[in-house]
Amino acid sequence: MKRPVRALTFVLFLLAAFFSVAARAPEVRTIWTLSRRYTNLSDLAKRYRMQFSRDSSGWNFGNRFGILKLYPEKRDARFNNVRIVPSFAPLVRNGAAYASSVDVNTLINPFFTTKKPYKHKIYRIVIDPGHGGKDHGAIGRIAREKNITLQLAKLVEKSLEANGYAVTLTRTTDTYLGLAERPARANRADADLFISLHVNAAADRSVSGIETYALTPVGAPSSASSTPTTSRAAGNEFDFNNVLLAYHIQKTLLERTGATDRGVKRARFAVLRDLKCPGVLVEIGFISNSAEERKLASSAYLDRLAKAISSGVIAYHRSLSQ
Ligand SMILES: [Zn+2]
Repeated sequence: MKRPVRALTFVLFLLAAFFSVAARAPEVRTIWTLSRRYTNLSDLAKRYRMQFSRDSSGWNFGNRFGILKLYPEKRDARFNNVRIVPSFAPLVRNGAAYASSVDVNTLINPFFTTKKPYKHKIYRIVIDPGHGGKDHGAIGRIAREKNITLQLAKLVEKSLEANGYAVTLTRTTDTYLGLAERPARANRADADLFISLHVNAAADRSVSGIETYALTPVGAPSSASSTPTTSRAAGNEFDFNNVLLAYHIQKTLLERTGATDRGVKRARFAVLRDLKCPGVLVEIGFISNSAEERKLASSAYLDRLAKAISSGVIAYHRSLSQ
């Protein structure tokens, strides 16, 4: 009789331990306003055992992975000083800070979680030089986007291969390639990561800088919009990874170039939608800005960009085992 009694006591002990932990987990308050759910950031910080503080410009939310700075009523944030465009502006209600639950799920959780359910192998990387052939992309005074992206892709290939990765380019010559064919080639190559390279252009010639795009998650608006996306694409399988990869590449690009930080953004780009692996699209600079065009036309600068992209991939890869 002794054994069953001991077993029962043990089960009761486990149940008591479970309920006392459950009872101690702090409640995270949410509110429904502006047609969506918002999460109380102070409660969330307690639940996640993170630091949460306020200073003159906004809120700081952090743990050992870094600090996310959020600004009340602004669709702007910084994660370890890299600009991130949140889905919605955080807000104040009854003196407390709230972030949209969409941002909790698609920014805060990927950046700060200590569980890595999205850990994956990284060996084959597909680099996609934007445009090609009859599609010149953006045209500057001295350079063309399709040539810059191809030259850069070959330098990224060299740098990643020197670090032990296997690299495939979606095009290796000045040939036309449709948008759907680019992720299709990555999927056929059984890619573990996909990076599409592009050059920006704007009517305002003073605009310059670098921005990195991840696929817009379902329920979130693209950065250039305020209407949430409702359709799910294959690439949404990797929402956590996509934004982390975008952050690491944007960070190393800024560190190596000192370029203007236009941020980690979201868009439903065709080249990202159908991917069966994590991927990003990098806009490496503005061909319409004469100073930036001169840099983009120099192989020394492209080499610097290539090494930065390669370092970003390595940093992302390392972050998965932290
Ligand atoms: Zn382009």
